[in-house]
Amino acid sequence: MKARAPDQLSLEEMYHRTHHARTFRDSAIDKARRAEADAERGKRHEQHLCPWCYYFMRGRIAGQAFTEWTCAHCRGTFMHHNTATPRLCPACAATLEACADCCADIDLRDRRTLTKALRRRKKKP
Ligand SMILES: [Zn+2]
Ligand SMILES: [Zn+2]
Repeated sequence: MKARAPDQLSLEEMYHRTHHARTFRDSAIDKARRAEADAERGKRHEQHLCPWCYYFMRGRIAGQAFTEWTCAHCRGTFMHHNTATPRLCPACAATLEACADCCADIDLRDRRTLTKALRRRKKKP
């Protein structure tokens, strides 16, 4: 199989490609800077999102359809306004201190247990 021959490169195409590549690069740098500073930590925690999902994944493409989904912890069923459903409900995300979208630790710390409560309980004799 042979790939379709691309259109011959024009100066106009190169101009547009350069503009897009520069925009994507600048956007990635901007997101990385904001994620590193994490100045919106409070707002991020309110939305139960880890720095990756909050600063990089917001605005991801989703189908516009109300979607029923199941929480990965309590197994409750919920409705979401589009097809990009979370994995944890807000209550479970708060209890587990986890990202509602990707289930990472909310501040990307290494974790040995699902909850602090569990860790505290295990330490007792
Ligand atoms: Zn839940
Ligand atoms: Zn996440």
